[in-house]
Amino acid sequence: MKIHNFSAGPAILPASVIEEAAAAVAEYQGTGLSILEVSHRSKEIVAVMDEARQLVKDLLGLGDDYGVLFLTGGASTQFFMSAMNLLNEDETACYIDTGTWSSKAIKEAKIFGGVNVLASSKDQNYNYIPKDWKVPANTKYLHITTNNTIYGTQFQALPETDSLLVADMSSDIFSRPFDANKVDLIYAGAQKNLGPAGTTLVIVRKEILGKVTRAIPTMLDYQVHIKKDSSFNTPPVYPIFVCLLTLRWIQAQGGLLAMQKQNEKKAALLYDEIDRNPFFSGTTAVEDRSCMNVTFVADSPAHEEAFLAYCTANGISGIKGHRSVGGFRASIYNAMPYESVVYLVELMQNFKPA
Ligand SMILES: *Cc1c(COP(=O)(O)O)cnc(C)c1O
Repeated sequence: MKIHNFSAGPAILPASVIEEAAAAVAEYQGTGLSILEVSHRSKEIVAVMDEARQLVKDLLGLGDDYGVLFLTGGASTQFFMSAMNLLNEDETACYIDTGTWSSKAIKEAKIFGGVNVLASSKDQNYNYIPKDWKVPANTKYLHITTNNTIYGTQFQALPETDSLLVADMSSDIFSRPFDANKVDLIYAGAQKNLGPAGTTLVIVRKEILGKVTRAIPTMLDYQVHIKKDSSFNTPPVYPIFVCLLTLRWIQAQGGLLAMQKQNEKKAALLYDEIDRNPFFSGTTAVEDRSCMNVTFVADSPAHEEAFLAYCTANGISGIKGHRSVGGFRASIYNAMPYESVVYLVELMQNFKPA
C-alpha cells in the first residue's frame, strides 16, 4: 500500500529527491565513493555548498549583501544565536508570540537583552495571528514566526517595521514568493519544507552583523560562518546535499510562484472539505489559515479515534495533531502531491462512523 506522509517534520520530500539522494549514497559523481565519505574540502562538496547557497539566493531574489549559511543545532539554536548576534544588553527586541516556537525564541532572547512581547494569541491557544500592534521606535528588531507549524496559522504577509526584521520560517520557507529583501535575518530548520533533519538554513543581511559588544563564541558567530562559507568546521554535508536536490526540484517546478499555486490549490481543497463535512471543523481563524499545516478536529472524541484508525488503515501517515492542540494536522508542504490531498479528502468523504 502506498503511504501518504502528512507528517509535520521530518516531512515528505519529493520522490525524485529521495531517489537521487539514495543514488549518491551508493556512489557520488564518478568519485567511486559514497557522498557520505567524501571530504567536505573536496571540489565535489565545495561545489554542492556553492550551488546550494546560490540557489537559495536565486529563488528568493537576494544579492551579495546577504550571507547564506547551512548550520547545525536546529532552528532551536537560532532562537538564541539570532539574539546573541544582534541584541545588545541595553537594547530591546520585539516579539510576536504566536505559539510554542515563538515562546521558546522569546525565552532565549531574554538572556541577551530587553524583550518586548508586543502581542500574543496565547489567550486562545494560539488559534489566530494577533493584528493590532505597532513596533515602537528604538526597537532593535522585530521577530516573527511566519508559519505556526503546531497550530496551523500563518502570517499572510510580512509586517511593516522600521526596525530590523527577523523571521523563523522553518515551516513555510520556499512555499510562496515573498519580499526576502525586507527580512534581515531568516532561519529555517531544513526538516519541514526543505530537506532532512540535520541542517538549518540561515540567511542574513551582512551589514547588520558585528554590532554587538559582547564576545561571541566562534561557532556561534554568523560572521565566522559567512567568511568560511559554512565550512568553518565540518558541515553536515549529506543533509545540505539533500537540500540542494530539493532546491533544484523547486526551481525545475517553476520556482516559488509555482509552489504557491500548487500549495494554495491543495490547501483550498482540504479546507473546503473541512468546512463542508459535518464530522470535521477547522481550529483556527479562517483569515489566518496556514497553507502548510492544516489543523482540524472531529465532532467527538469517538469520531476522532475512528477517523485516525481509518486513516492509518488506508495508508495515511503522520496526521495526528500535536499533543497541545489535539485532533488532526495534515502537513501539505511543497513536496506533497496534489493527488495525496485528493486521496485524504476522499477518505474524509467516505468516513461513515458507526
Ligand atoms: C520545528 C520548528 C522549530 C524547531 O526546529 P528544530 O530544528 O527542531 O530546532 C522552530 N520553529 C518552527 C516554526 C518549527 O516548525
